[in-house]
Amino acid sequence: MADKSDDKGGSWREKYLDALDQQEQIEKSFAVQQELLRRALVRVSVVADGQDDALDGILGQLRERMRGAISGDINALLARLDEVAHNFEDHREKNALDVRTSLTETVKSLQALDLTRSVKKEISQYLSQLPERSKKVRLYPALLQQLASIQQQALKEIEQPKTGFLQKILGAPAATKAVEKAVQDNSDTDVAAAPVATAVPPVNKVQTAENVVVAPMPTPAGSTVNYAEINAELTGASRVESALHSNESQASNNALPQSFVEKITQVINQFLNGLEKEAPMVKKVQAIRERITAATTAEVFIKTLEDLRDLMMQSYLSANQAFATYLKNVNQELADIYSLVGGAVESESSRRNASENLQNSVRKEMASLESSAESATDLAQLKNLVQSQIGNIRQALDNFQNVESEQGQLAQQLEALSSKIKTMEDEAEKNRTILEKQRHKALHDPLTELPNREYYNERANYEYHRWQRYKRPLTLAVFDIDHFKKINDTHGHQAGDRVLKVIGRSVAKRLREVDFFCRFGGEEFVAIMPETSLADAMPVLDTIRGAIANAAFNYKEQPIAITLSIGATEFKAGDDLEAAFARADEALYAAKSGGRNCIKSG
Ligand code: GH3
Ligand code: MG
Ligand code: MG
Repeated sequence: MADKSDDKGGSWREKYLDALDQQEQIEKSFAVQQELLRRALVRVSVVADGQDDALDGILGQLRERMRGAISGDINALLARLDEVAHNFEDHREKNALDVRTSLTETVKSLQALDLTRSVKKEISQYLSQLPERSKKVRLYPALLQQLASIQQQALKEIEQPKTGFLQKILGAPAATKAVEKAVQDNSDTDVAAAPVATAVPPVNKVQTAENVVVAPMPTPAGSTVNYAEINAELTGASRVESALHSNESQASNNALPQSFVEKITQVINQFLNGLEKEAPMVKKVQAIRERITAATTAEVFIKTLEDLRDLMMQSYLSANQAFATYLKNVNQELADIYSLVGGAVESESSRRNASENLQNSVRKEMASLESSAESATDLAQLKNLVQSQIGNIRQALDNFQNVESEQGQLAQQLEALSSKIKTMEDEAEKNRTILEKQRHKALHDPLTELPNREYYNERANYEYHRWQRYKRPLTLAVFDIDHFKKINDTHGHQAGDRVLKVIGRSVAKRLREVDFFCRFGGEEFVAIMPETSLADAMPVLDTIRGAIANAAFNYKEQPIAITLSIGATEFKAGDDLEAAFARADEALYAAKSGGRNCIKSG
């Protein structure tokens, strides 16, 4: 019974220890995963930096947080990132729309002029392609370049000396009307407050030793460059100039009225203010400034606008080059992240399923981010990709945290289970001890501490069945102290008790381990001797009898003579326990009758 209980306890304990071991493994693997995710997120946030002020702020905080330990409120930060990224997206779309509106207005104003079919065709093509092309920041330089080319062609055609530039203007009522309208529209509109035109800042990437920063490219003051206004200024000025020329017969003098010079100068200066912020442009911008300070004629302004256009092109193209480098760097960053995560996955191939799923998910996102960056041709597209991948990584992180919390719950359950098992084990142990004590008490004689009659019944049955089964010899012996009553009477009951104790132990220690010896009751003892024939048992028993008879027993310094009578029998075919015992008992009486201190068999 005790063994069974041990087995049960051992199996629970084993399971619990296994579970703890698994738990520890999973925790270790998750700790590594968490670190990988943290580093990946920091890198991706660096990559996405510079898109937008608000976005930069959040990404900065995210990096700070990630460089420390991941704490609980990371989710709040990620939620804000989502929101800011969303706003950024809205802002980007609005900018694209502004660019389109501005370019459309600019080109449409040219449509009013009397131009050749080929130029008109180019204008209408430009307008039809504009909605699609204006969505892509990288196409802005091309759009501007084409616009400049159309404007140049238009101006040349208007200048064509068939009827002369001025006559052409005056002789084209429709064009004049359009120009008048343009002037009127702009005359009471402050330049700084004019409708936003090419307000989208193209990107200008600045690479530092540590990371890639995408900053808005400088644009004219307040990002309010209005090509329509420039056209209007230019054509409007030409119209007035032509009027002056006509009225005052000063064909060779194209001097413009002071108010128009100021207006044009103001517009050009807005462009220059933006361009001047770029180091390579400073000298050229300075040269243009000097030129327009003294400029009074339309020709000078036309030339100036052409130079300005070239400068703008140069600026946009350098931004485009920076963008290509930026893409390359993004790609490199992503490759690093991929190898970081991928490499870790290779080396941890033996990890448990939950952990592997997490790794696969992160690896997939990283791979997707990498290939997206490789194929991205547009900065805006890339930004979107990076942002959406950050979202996916965040999702993976959330899942990871969920798994982790599940693991935490499992740990708690295991902990509870463990303490329950411990309690059960303690109780079982306690019960077992109690039971054993009770059993020992129930089966033993308190005076001699030898097995009692109950125990005899149990063991006698056991040996009897073994004897029946294996047919091995089995001997039973009954011992009785001679004249014990007299001992009690002579030396007192305590002396009698003492004799019982000493004789009992003395006989017991002279028998073999396999023999069973008990106090049967009163001053009677019984021995069961398995695997022992009567012939083998008799000399042994008689030796014991002799030893007791010869032992010097003193009680309170008084010698007490003690002898035993023994009756022995061997189990015989057809015997049951009672029959064998009765025969032994008869033999004992025979020994008593035979003078005591002797052994008889039956
Ligand atoms: P015989 O040689 O014929 O066996 O004579 P006897 O006196 O030993 O036998 P009898 O059955 O007449 O007396 C047994 C005595 O043993 C009677 C009883 O008081 C005493 N006795 C029985 N149990 C105990 C015990 O636990 N302690 C003591 N001190 N005496 C006991
Ligand atoms: Mg007796
Ligand atoms: Mg007796």
